[in-house]
Amino acid sequence: MLRSTAVDLAARIAGLIAFGARAGRVALDAIVPPVCVACREPVSEPHTLCGSCWAKLGWIDRPFCARCGLPFDYAALTPGPVECAPCLARPPAFAKARAALRYEPASRELVLAFKHADRTQNAPAFAAWMARAGAELLDGADLIVPVPLHWTRLIARRFNQAALLARGLSKRTRIPFEPRLLMRTRRTRTQGDLTRSQRMRNVRGAFAVRANGRLKLKGRTVVLVDDVMTTGATLEACAKALRRAGAKEVRVLALARVVRPGEGTVG
Ligand SMILES: [Zn+2]
Ligand SMILES: [Zn+2]
Repeated sequence: MLRSTAVDLAARIAGLIAFGARAGRVALDAIVPPVCVACREPVSEPHTLCGSCWAKLGWIDRPFCARCGLPFDYAALTPGPVECAPCLARPPAFAKARAALRYEPASRELVLAFKHADRTQNAPAFAAWMARAGAELLDGADLIVPVPLHWTRLIARRFNQAALLARGLSKRTRIPFEPRLLMRTRRTRTQGDLTRSQRMRNVRGAFAVRANGRLKLKGRTVVLVDDVMTTGATLEACAKALRRAGAKEVRVLALARVVRPGEGTVG
């Protein structure tokens, strides 16, 4: 009896503290003026960029590959959807990929601060940019799944940046967020200095769908979310695992993507 009262009291205190923290944050939002997501200079709306930071970022726009979203240097002469040479030669396991930004110095700074310097308060802004870039992918999608980290890396980093972006997208679109469907079954080496084929080998078979995930995936259209699309090797491995487990279609949405010089030339 006494014990249950103590537990009840502890729960009430915890509730009060949580309420206090929420109220405090609301009050803080009202006092502290909103700042630019990148340079922290004052702006009029929260979760937005100032004009000069907006102009510095390489926003991806049409024309781009209808499949992987690779921006083209110039519009194709033929009307209708055009795919890049690599997509035509070897169609990826995902149906479509889109990203909000080119991965360049300005966006790299934002991504690295998000990943390593705990700038997690930027997640709503990033999710808004991704929702805009990926509107056609989110349309009709059933699930939002982040690229998972290996559990050892998750402990070291404390959060999965892809999961924060995916959760932000889910909040905006009300498409269910499934952070535990896909898992990384083994640690893979950091891919920074690897070529595309080395990356493909590095992540081959590194992802799997949890035993209870097949039911949720059967016949579903999945939006797979990551922070940066580099060569697409990780996303390809994830898409394969999701499709093997029964997903009807996998679409990829990233905050930024690497575009190598000359890569966007229509062949
Ligand atoms: Zn700024
Ligand atoms: Zn392509």
